Amino acid sequence: MADALSLPHRKAGGLSWPVVSLGLWQNFGATIAFDDQRRLVLHAVDRGVVHLDLANNYGPPPFAAEESVGRLLARDLRTRRDELLITTKAGYRAWPGPYGEHGSAKYLRASLDRSLRLLGVDCVNVFYSHRFDPATPLEETLGALDRAVRSGKARHAGISSYSADRTVEALAVAASLGLRLAVHQPAYSLLNRWVEQPGADGRSLLEVADDASMAVVAFSPLAQGMLSARYLHGIPDDSRAARGGPLRTEWLTDEALDHVRALDAVARAGGRTLPQLALAWVLRDPRVTSVLVGARTAAQLDENLAAVALPALADDELAAIEPHAVDAGINLWGARSSEL
Ligand code: NAP
Repeated sequence: MADALSLPHRKAGGLSWPVVSLGLWQNFGATIAFDDQRRLVLHAVDRGVVHLDLANNYGPPPFAAEESVGRLLARDLRTRRDELLITTKAGYRAWPGPYGEHGSAKYLRASLDRSLRLLGVDCVNVFYSHRFDPATPLEETLGALDRAVRSGKARHAGISSYSADRTVEALAVAASLGLRLAVHQPAYSLLNRWVEQPGADGRSLLEVADDASMAVVAFSPLAQGMLSARYLHGIPDDSRAARGGPLRTEWLTDEALDHVRALDAVARAGGRTLPQLALAWVLRDPRVTSVLVGARTAAQLDENLAAVALPALADDELAAIEPHAVDAGINLWGARSSEL
C-alpha cells in the first residue's frame, strides 16, 4: 500500500524530513534474515518513511545495515534513490585500532568512503559526527565533515549526542569553516529529557539547535521499547531486553515501570496506544523535526505511523503526562558523549 503523501514532513536545516524516520541500528544485523529486513524497509518507504538512518557501526557486525541497504538500493529501490534521505554517521567502533572510532579526520574519511561503497551511492544526504570526541580538536572533526560536503560525498553535515555546550562550540567552529551544521540527532523521549536541560549559557540543546536553524531528529523516542506495554508483565522472549542488547534489564525498575503504567493509562484514556502517546509527545515540540523509531516489525511501524494521524495531545493530557515524564537513567549516550 503506497500512501507516501499522507505522512507529513517538517522542514529544517535545508531539508524536508518525514515526521517519522526509520533507524537501522538494532534490527538489521547479519543474524536477521535479509528478506525480513527487505520487507520492513520497503514497507516503510511505501508508507512515506523516506528517511533511512544508518551508521557505520549498525549491525552487528559493523556496516551490515549499510550493506543491506546497498543491496536494496541496487534492486528494489533502484529507481527510488532520489525519494530517499539516506543518512549515516561515524564515531563509534567500526574496525580495530585507534583509527576505528571517535573523531579523527582519517577515521571519518575512511568510514564515509566505506559507507558509500557498501551503499553503492555517490553521496549520502547527511554525514554525522556520531559523538563528540574529547581527544580530537573540533576543528579536525568538523573539518572532515566540511571536506565530505565540499567533495560532494555528503550533501549535509550533522552532529549527534553533542551536549548543548559542545553544540555551541561546534557551531562556532563550523561557521569559521563556512560549514552549515544542518541537523542534530539527540536521544529524546518521555523517559530521557536531557535535551531540555539548560547548558552553560542558559540555553537547552533544543534552544541552541532552534537558534541555529538546525533540524532535530530525535532518536529512541520509545526509549528502546520501554515506552510500550511490552515490559509491563515481564520481559518477552522476542524483546530487545531479552536479546541482551542495549536496553538494559536493570532499567526496568518498579519505579520506571510505574511511570510507564501511568503513561499507558493516559494513552488509553485518550484513545491511543502508549507508543503513539510517546511519539506524539516528542513531536508536540515544533523544534523536533522527526522521531527516529527503530521498529522491528511492520506492525510496530504501522502502529507508530498511526500516531501522526491522531489529534495532537490536549492540554489535560499533557498535564497528566508531566509527572510521569521523568528521567529514568537510560541515557546511554550521556555519559559517553553528550556530558563531555
Ligand atoms: P525506539 O523506537 O525507541 O525503539 C525501538 C524498539 O522499540 C523496537 O526495536 C521494538 O523493540 C520497540 N518498538 C517499536 N515500536 C513499537 C511498538 N509500536 N510497540 C511495541 N514496541 C515497539 O528506537 P531505537 O531503536 O532505540 O532507535 C531508533 C533509531 O535511532 C536507531 O535505529 C538509530 O537509527 C537511531 N539511534 C541513534 C543513536 C545515536 O547515537 N545517534 C543511538 C541510538 C539510536 P523490540 O525489538 O523489543 O520489539
